[in-house]
Amino acid sequence: MVLTDLSAAEHLRNLESGSISSVELTQAYLDRIEAVEKKVDAFLRIDGDRALQQAAEVDAKHAKRQPLGRLAGLPIAIKDILCERGQTTTCASRMLEHFRPPYDATAITRLRAADAVFLGRTNMDEFAMGGSTESSAYKVTRNPWDLERSPGGSSGGSAAAVAAGMAPFAIGTDTGGSIRQPAGLCGVVGMKPTYGRVSRYGLVAYASSLDQIGAFGQSVEDAALLLESIAGHDPRDSTSLNVPVPPYSQTVNKPLANVRIGWVREHFGPGLDSEVEAAIRAALEVYKSLGATLHEISLPHSKYAVATYYVIAPSEASSNLARYDGVHFGYRTDENEMLAELAADRKRLETGGDKIGLDRLDSALVRMYRRTRAEGFGPEVKRRIMLGTYALSAGYYDAYYLKALKVRRLIRQDFDQAFAKVDLIAGPITPAPAFKIGEMAGDPLALYLVDIYTVSANLAGIPGLCLPCGQSKTGLPIGLQLQAPALEEDRLLRGARMYEQATHWHKNRAMI
Ligand code: GLN
Repeated sequence: MVLTDLSAAEHLRNLESGSISSVELTQAYLDRIEAVEKKVDAFLRIDGDRALQQAAEVDAKHAKRQPLGRLAGLPIAIKDILCERGQTTTCASRMLEHFRPPYDATAITRLRAADAVFLGRTNMDEFAMGGSTESSAYKVTRNPWDLERSPGGSSGGSAAAVAAGMAPFAIGTDTGGSIRQPAGLCGVVGMKPTYGRVSRYGLVAYASSLDQIGAFGQSVEDAALLLESIAGHDPRDSTSLNVPVPPYSQTVNKPLANVRIGWVREHFGPGLDSEVEAAIRAALEVYKSLGATLHEISLPHSKYAVATYYVIAPSEASSNLARYDGVHFGYRTDENEMLAELAADRKRLETGGDKIGLDRLDSALVRMYRRTRAEGFGPEVKRRIMLGTYALSAGYYDAYYLKALKVRRLIRQDFDQAFAKVDLIAGPITPAPAFKIGEMAGDPLALYLVDIYTVSANLAGIPGLCLPCGQSKTGLPIGLQLQAPALEEDRLLRGARMYEQATHWHKNRAMI
C-alpha cells in the first residue's frame, strides 16, 4: 500500500508515534498532486511551499515536545468557499477572482489551532450552486474513478482530491447534498453535520438556512476527527448551537448495540438504478448481520423535497448574492467601457428622437451594477438569482416561497416521526453512480433531480453521512447514506463505522 492510500486517522497515529514527519507526509501528498492533478483538476490553487513551511513548524513543535493540536501535521484540502485572511477565496466565480478576505473563517481558525497543514483550495460549482463542479468559472474537475465522469458537486474538488489520494481529508460544504453527493460519486466518506454544529462565520453564504460545513475522508474515523476539530459554538455565528461537542474520535470505534435501522419505502421507487438498489439492500443485510434490526418507514413528503429545496435555496441565494454589486465586493466591470457604452446608447436614442428610451436609460451606477453582475456571474448562478427573485416577488411569495416553507415543516415532521421508531435511516445517496461530464449540461432539471435523496436532510437540519457500500459493474463507486436526528452525530459516526469495519469498500482506491 502506498503512503497516500492511508486515511487521515492512520497518518495521525504515525505522526504521533514519530514514524513519519509532517514534512515527509506533506511532501508525499504534494508529489501525488504533481503526478495526478493534471488529470483530475481538483484544485484551484496548490500552496506547496506554504504547506511545507507549516509542516516544518509542526515538526519543530513535535521535536521540542510542545503541545500539539488535534490534527497536528496532517495535510488537508479546503473548498474555495471559506475565507482565509489574505488568501484568494474565489468560490469558483469570476465575481471573486481577486477577493482576498481580511479575516479567517472560524473553521479555518480552528484548523490552524489544530495544527493542520493547508495543501490548497479545491474546485467547486460556482458559489456552490450545482451538483457536478461543471459550473466552476475556472475548470471542470474529473472523477478519479473514470476521468470522463463528473465527481459530483458542489464540493467536487474536495471529493476528487481525497479519492485520488491528493489529500487525506478535506473540508466541504453541504447546502443540499454538496458533501454527501460527491462523496458518494467518488467513493469516499462525506459528512454533513447538524445545522448549527459548525460555525459558518467566514463561509461565503449560498442559502443561509441550509448551509453547513463538513468533512471528507478516506474513512469514518477521518470524518469524526475532522468534525471534532471544527465543531462547536461560536458567538460570531448566531445559528451556531451552544451545546458541547462530544469527543467523536474517541467513541467512533464503539459499535452501536441493538441499533434500529430504518429504510424508507419511498427511496426504492422508480428512478433508482438497479445496481444501486442491490448495493443498498446488501448494506442493510450487513447491518442485520451486525445485530441491527431493520424497519420499513415512510417519509411521505420526501417526494416534494427537490421542489421545496429549489424554491428555498434560490430564494435565499438571490438575497445573499445581492451584495455582489461591484461596489462592496469583488469584480467590477470596466468603467470606461461602460461609460462609452452608455454615451453611445444616449446618442443613438437622441438621434432617433426616442424620448421614452431616453427616460428609461440607466444611470451610470445602475449600468455599472448591471454589467458587473452580467459579467461576474455564470449562467447557473444567474438562473438561481432569477428563480429566487421570482419566488420572493410580490404576488408569488405566498404561492412559492411561503408554500415551500410549509412543506419544509412537513418534511421535518416526517423525520421526527421516523426517528421515534428508528435510530438511523439508511438509503441511497444518488439515484445512480457518477454521470458523464456534459451529460446534464443542457438540462438543469435533470441535475436537480440527482439531489432527491440528499436535500431533505438540509431542509430538516439533521446530520447525514455517505460512505462507500459497493461498486457498479463498470467499476464506479456506490454510496450509502445514513441519517440521524439533530445533534446525534456520535450515533451517526458509530453506526457508519460499524458498517465500514465489517466491509472492505472503503479500502478500494481509484486506479489513477
Ligand atoms: N445541488 C445542490 C444545488 O445546486 C446542492 C448545492 C450544495 O449543497 N451546495 O443547490
